[in-house]
Order: sequence, then structure tokens, then C-alpha cells
Amino acid sequence: MKKISNDEGKPRCHCGVFGIFGHPEASVMCYYGLQALQHRGQEAAGIVTSEWLEDKKKQRFNIQKGVGLVSDVFKDEKVLREVLKGSSAIGHNRYSTTGSTDNKSNIQPFVVNYKSGNLALGHNGNLTNYRKLRYALQNEGTIFQSTSDSEIILHLAARSKQKDQILQIKEALDFVEGAYSIVMLTDKSLVAARDSHGFRPLALGKVDSAYVVASETCAFDIIGAEYIRDVAPGEIIVIDNDVLATGEVKSFWISKRSSKVHHCIFEFIYFSRPDSKVFGINVDRVRRKLGKLLADVNPITPQSPEDKVIIISVPDSSNTCTLGYVTESNKQGRNVRLELGLIRSHYIGRTFIQPQENYREIKVKTKYNTVKGVLKGRKVIIVDDSVVRGTTSKQLVKLIKEAGPKEVHFRVSCPPIKFPCYYGMDFPSSKELIANRFKGDVEAIRKELGVDSLSYLPMEKLIASAPTDDGRNYCTACFDGNYPVIIDPEASKNENDQ
Ligand code: SF4
Repeated sequence: MKKISNDEGKPRCHCGVFGIFGHPEASVMCYYGLQALQHRGQEAAGIVTSEWLEDKKKQRFNIQKGVGLVSDVFKDEKVLREVLKGSSAIGHNRYSTTGSTDNKSNIQPFVVNYKSGNLALGHNGNLTNYRKLRYALQNEGTIFQSTSDSEIILHLAARSKQKDQILQIKEALDFVEGAYSIVMLTDKSLVAARDSHGFRPLALGKVDSAYVVASETCAFDIIGAEYIRDVAPGEIIVIDNDVLATGEVKSFWISKRSSKVHHCIFEFIYFSRPDSKVFGINVDRVRRKLGKLLADVNPITPQSPEDKVIIISVPDSSNTCTLGYVTESNKQGRNVRLELGLIRSHYIGRTFIQPQENYREIKVKTKYNTVKGVLKGRKVIIVDDSVVRGTTSKQLVKLIKEAGPKEVHFRVSCPPIKFPCYYGMDFPSSKELIANRFKGDVEAIRKELGVDSLSYLPMEKLIASAPTDDGRNYCTACFDGNYPVIIDPEASKNENDQ
């Protein structure tokens, strides 16, 4: 029997980053922060701490990284307390976007020791000019330890002629293009930086007198930290002992700045947790609005008191959107009911043992089961956040139909996904996307899924769901192909992964 990844047929989210400076239990705080960010990457996790060695009068970086969930990698509490000592730490949860999944040297944070001291890096995003920079550096003799695009930032910083580590980092970031939200540790500071388009989120907070940064604010809530603000697009924030003393965060800007920000709109649709704030906005608020606007698209109305229409979500990522859908439907007098028609198992682990036959059905059934009494004889509206390949959706519909509903209608809270993401998110290849397989023909996709009706949220409604105050603007490239950073498709690939 073969073991394969037990993904949900969804785009795979990139990575989660966390950093803390000035806390006596930095590693433990980092561990909990990574736990809260587990949804952003489940292949590997790592923590690096910076510890002052009084006897040697120097700073030492301590590292623990491994394959698996945060609770697997750090299952021995002694590692957190006795190995990962120090008052500052950065951590990383990984899904590979560039860099081979099986290559353990790709697990972050990366650490180097070079002429100016120690440097550690955790990166969320995807550098679009990575291949060009890597060729140039390799031609000059640079030896890479990993196949990840993130490593390039460390090499560029280490080669800088600047004396100060912060200026070295700033110079490195002036060379790279694409999407990055990074956390770095130097010997004296925690550095957090974000590309000037602001593709990926990165928030700044405070717990006691320590400062924290994280991909999403759910990582602050778990450790009792307070959200201060976002790291702005194009900003480099430095937290050091001066900042702890004065309370004034040091801020620099990368030189090459975009005139417009382009936050990844998919963070609202699917990636981020609804209890988080990303881009300074509550995800729950946007996700409910997606549902409300979806409720207007091709609505299903009961024809008589006996004609029961129920709404079910594909748990868990579609739950919040479904609440918005139901609220709006009833506000418009449609008299529909929210039901828990699909139950998701949370305890199945990361791999799926593929049996000889019917494995597709079993794969979906390991994760979902139906509540048959709820579905039987009803008109069922399934609300899902996105449809990618369509294979999981098709299996889910089959499962639901086995429960004997009168009709099955499928509603998707985003437009059809037609284009790849080069900014740190892992979609299958363009030709595998169901919207491309059926050339954007929604009727053909409906037939393929086997439902009575299928509707996607139109692009204008997607845009209307996300706030545009404070100069906010969004990347929608996976739906419309309008890439904010020009892409050489070859440049975003890593030749070592082929
Ligand atoms: Fe997000 Fe899609 Fe843009 Fe990628 S292409 S950054 S997933 S909106």
C-alpha cells in the first residue's frame, strides 16, 4: 500500500512565521505561536533562539527543526526549556512553495554564521527573481545548502559590504522581488520585514515587555499578546534592547517600493483563520461578507412550507462564509436553515494509506461523513470556499447524494481559479484546475460535479467584500491573471525540484 498526502483538494497555503524579542520564555511563546499558525504549514516546523553566553561573552543561536506538526517536532518539553534557551526566538511552519518537500535542508528557520555574526531567517512567500539571483551567486562561487528561494536573502546579506547587520539585510531586500513576510534574528535584534506589495500578512504585537511578530494575530491571542499594528508593506522593523527600553520601534523602508499594495485576497477566502486579523482586518468580517454576497447569486427559494431548503458548509474553512450566506438568505425572506450536514474528522493525521481499490471514496470519507437524517429529502445548498481540481468536491457531492437529498446545489465563495500563484501559494498546475479543464464553462463543471446548480461568486462581489480604505488593494491574479509583479514563469520554479 502506498501512503499519500491527505490534502483536502485545496490550494496549499504557504508558511507561517513567528518572532519574539525580550521574553524569558521565548522558545515556549514561539512554540505556542507556531501551534496557532499550524494551518499555514504542516510539513515541517522549526525554532531558533538567541542565547547570551556570559562566560564566553558572545551570542549563540540554538536550533531545533524537524518534519511534521509543531507538536511532533517539539514533543519533548526539555528541548524547549534546555536546548532552545534565550530571550529571543523566531519560528517557522512550512509548506514548500519552492524547494523540495522531502529535502530536510529546506526546513526553516535557516541559520548562518558569517563575518558579522549569526543570522537566522524564516520566510513566508515566494521570491519571483530567485532563479536569476541564484544563477548569479552560484556563478560567483556561492554554495547553497538548500533548494529553497529563501536562502538567497541570507547570502545577499552576508555578501553585503555594509558593517551593520540591519543595513546588510536592508541591502539584501533591495535585490529580491516578489512576495515575502520575513522574520530574522541577528545577534542583537529581531527583524521583521514585508515586501512592498504586502502580499502576505505580518502583524506586530506586544506581550508583557516583549515584542512579537506573526503571520496572523491568532498567534498573539494564544500567548496573551496585544496587537499593535501591521508591519507595513515595504517596511523593515527592528526590535532590540533600545526598543525594549524606549518603547519606540525602529522602522526602515526598502528602497524599491511599489506605488500600490496588493494583499493576497485568498487570505480572506481560505488561508487565514477567521479569528485572526490580517492586513489589519478581521478575517471573520470579510468571510461573512463573502457569504452574504454569495447569497444573492442564483438563490434557491423554498416553493412551499414542505419544501425544505438547508444550507451546509464544507467544514471548517467554509463555516464562517456559510453563516453569512444563511443570515442574508433569511434576511431576504427565503426561509432557509443552517444544518450540520457534513462532519469533519480532525484526527486522521497527514497521510492516507491508499488501498488497492476505491481509494478516492475512502480518502474523502476519512475526512468527511454525512448526517443522513439532515440531508434526506431536502434541497441542499453546499457552500464551499473554493474549488481547485474539483476531485474532492465531486467526491463530496457523491457522498451527500448517497444520503438521499431532493436536490444538491453548489455555491463557491470565490470566482473560478484559472491561474497559478507565483507569490507563495501552491496551486496544482494550470491544466489540473477544473476551471481550465472545462475552459471556464460553468455548465460543464456543474455536470462534472454532478449537482443541480453551480454558482461562483463573481469577481466584482469578491472585490466588494474586502475593505479598500487606507489604500488597501488586492491581488486577484489566480482568478484574472493580472499579476502585480511581472513574472517569468521559469523564474519562479526551482530547477532542483523538477
Ligand atoms: Fe493570493 Fe491568488 Fe494573488 Fe497568489 S495569485 S497572491 S493566491 S490572490
